[in-house]
Amino acid sequence: MRVVSVEGRLAMVVDGQVVDVERASGGRFDAAPQAVYARWEEFVAWAAEERGMRSGPALHEVTLAAPVPEPRQVFAIGLNYRDHVAEGGLEASDTTPMVFTKFPSSVAGPYDDVPLPPGSVDFEAELVVVIGKQAERVPADRAWEHVAGLTAGQDLSERELQTGPPHPPQFSLAKSFPKFAPIGPAVVTPDEFDDPSDLEIGCHLNGEQMQKARTSDMIFSVADIVAYLSSVVPLLPGDLIFTGTPSGVGFVRDPKRLITPGDVLLTHVEGIGTMRHHFHAGPVR
Ligand code: ZN
Repeated sequence: MRVVSVEGRLAMVVDGQVVDVERASGGRFDAAPQAVYARWEEFVAWAAEERGMRSGPALHEVTLAAPVPEPRQVFAIGLNYRDHVAEGGLEASDTTPMVFTKFPSSVAGPYDDVPLPPGSVDFEAELVVVIGKQAERVPADRAWEHVAGLTAGQDLSERELQTGPPHPPQFSLAKSFPKFAPIGPAVVTPDEFDDPSDLEIGCHLNGEQMQKARTSDMIFSVADIVAYLSSVVPLLPGDLIFTGTPSGVGFVRDPKRLITPGDVLLTHVEGIGTMRHHFHAGPVR
C-alpha cells in the first residue's frame, strides 16, 4: 500500500489514482494524515478489504504534502554509511548508532519550496522509517513489526551551525530550519518491496548525480536502529527515523558544492519515488 497526503487529506494510491480515505471509509478514518498511525493495523486490515476503490483523480494531477506531517518525535542517525564516514575523515562506532533529532516543525512536503538560511546548506538523501506501532525495548528480530512503512527524506543541514566553532556544534538545530526535513512522496508499506532492506537511494542537484548508494550498505540496519532507539525511548506511532546518508554530500567535496538559491534537488528511493525541491533565498537570521 502507498499512502499520501493530498493537500492535507489522507489518501491511498490505487492503480495510479488517489482514493480519499475519509470518504472511502465513510468517516471511519480521519482525513488528517497523522491520525492514521495510531490505528495502523486496523487501517491496513480495512484497506486490504477495499480493493477496487476508484474514486479519485490521477496521482499526477494532485498536489502532495508531507505524508506524515506532525510526528511527535523525529530521530536521525549520523555516520551510518562507511563511505560517508570515510569522506568526512571520521570514525564511526560499530556498536552504537549516533543519534540526534530533527525538530518536528522542520517536516515538509515532497515538492515544497525551501528557504535557504544564511550559511552553508547541504543535502543528505536518506531512507526514512515511519513507526506504526509503539515500540519499547523491541529486539531487532521483531523490529519490522513496528514499522508502518518507508519513505524518502532529505536531512537538509546548515553545516556552519552544525559543526561549530566559534559556537558549540548544534547538530539538531542545524538540521531543523523551516522545511529542512522534507519527506515523501508516499509512505510505502514493507510488503511492497522485494527486499525493504536493499533499496537504491540517491539525489541529483541541478541534474547532476551527487549521491547514489544502496540502503543495504547501512552500518546499522532499520531493525538495528529500531532496537537501539526503543531500548531508551518509546517509539510512538507516526514517529519518523531518518536513517543516515551515503557519501557524496556537498561540504566535503573539493570544491564544496553547497545549495544556492535557484537550485533544484531531486531525491529518490527505489520503490518509493522522487521528491523535488526548489531553493530560494530565505529570511536573514
Ligand atoms: Zn543525515
